[in-house]
Amino acid sequence: MGEYRIAAIGGDGIGPEVVEAGVEVLNAVAEKDGGFSLKVETFPWGGDYYRKHGVMMPEDGVETLKPFDAIYFGSAGDPNIPDHITLWGLRLKICQTLDQYANVRPSRLLPGIDGPLKNVGPDDLDWVIVRENSEGEYAGVGGRVHTGLAEEVGMDVAVFTRAGVERIQRFALELARSRPRKKLTLVTKSNAQRHGMVFWDDVFEVVRKDFPDVETDKMLVDAMTTRMVLKPQSLDTIVATNLHADVLSDLAAALTGSLGIAPTANLRPERDFPSMFEPIHGSAFDIIGKGVANPIGCFWSGVMLLEHLGEPAAAKRLMAAVERVTGAREAVSPDLGGNATTRQVTDAVLAAVRGAND
Ligand code: ATP
Repeated sequence: MGEYRIAAIGGDGIGPEVVEAGVEVLNAVAEKDGGFSLKVETFPWGGDYYRKHGVMMPEDGVETLKPFDAIYFGSAGDPNIPDHITLWGLRLKICQTLDQYANVRPSRLLPGIDGPLKNVGPDDLDWVIVRENSEGEYAGVGGRVHTGLAEEVGMDVAVFTRAGVERIQRFALELARSRPRKKLTLVTKSNAQRHGMVFWDDVFEVVRKDFPDVETDKMLVDAMTTRMVLKPQSLDTIVATNLHADVLSDLAAALTGSLGIAPTANLRPERDFPSMFEPIHGSAFDIIGKGVANPIGCFWSGVMLLEHLGEPAAAKRLMAAVERVTGAREAVSPDLGGNATTRQVTDAVLAAVRGAND
């Protein structure tokens, strides 16, 4: 029987609550499957660790993660620590050092969950957004000069490399090819950003030739927001830069009912380093410790983790269990209009996993 080593990092805010629930559910799925087990090691990194040690994670933290098969992450963000420290000191440090360049964000209307769009059913909204996760607007290149003076300057430079653009576009085209509709939309802003974004368009013209079976089109990011709202059926797989896809995927999460259900995977497709799976939401400090965080985003991230480990049957079982629970509306958390606690949603999904017949 195979055993997978999973590093669990709850992080800040509601992160530890949902990751703990996720680990419980993943173990139940493994037990039910019987073909594999999980050895989960938990790391207490994040804001509290920073208050004690002055860093979000130990110096050799990323090295510690390298031998794991996957990382299960909660959230980074603390009201008393500047965002750039919480983000760059933990989540981005892991993503960038392990070169998890493909950030994959599925959005789908789950059964029983009403999105805010009128007359849009489950078959009308089924997208995967692929976000470039290693460079672009978040490359960290830039600086500030003349600090505090009237002529102060702050600058962030978006960095696009041919290697970086090509690998994410190729990844997205392959993903689009694996989905029934075989359709990919490239999102840029090449009318205004006439260097890096035109470069994205040019690289795409070359790369897409290797995928003649994938139907492609192009959108400017501003027009894309309206298309997502007005014609969701016309979209399937979407690829965009780090910043654009960050924004579009929050919109996508809202259109599917709640930030609390959306999952994401930070993939290292070459598999020489572990990939990281996390809910899309942040620390949600307004509900921390209340026991009402919706764990479904974390469960769905667990589905992606199982798929990545090569356990498709277990992944399918967990997704089916989540959909049975949302569809029956038996345990609905407050973000989706109910009053179920994290514990109650978790118990309902555990029961659905354990009760499922093969
Ligand atoms: P961050 O800056 O850490 O990314 P954010 O400001 O984007 O965070 P979130 O923490 O993602 O915001 O939360 C946005 C809103 O959505 C909050 O009101 C929060 O309570 C709600 N929310 C987010 N995740 C969940 C969840 N899992 N369950 C219930 N509500 C949630």
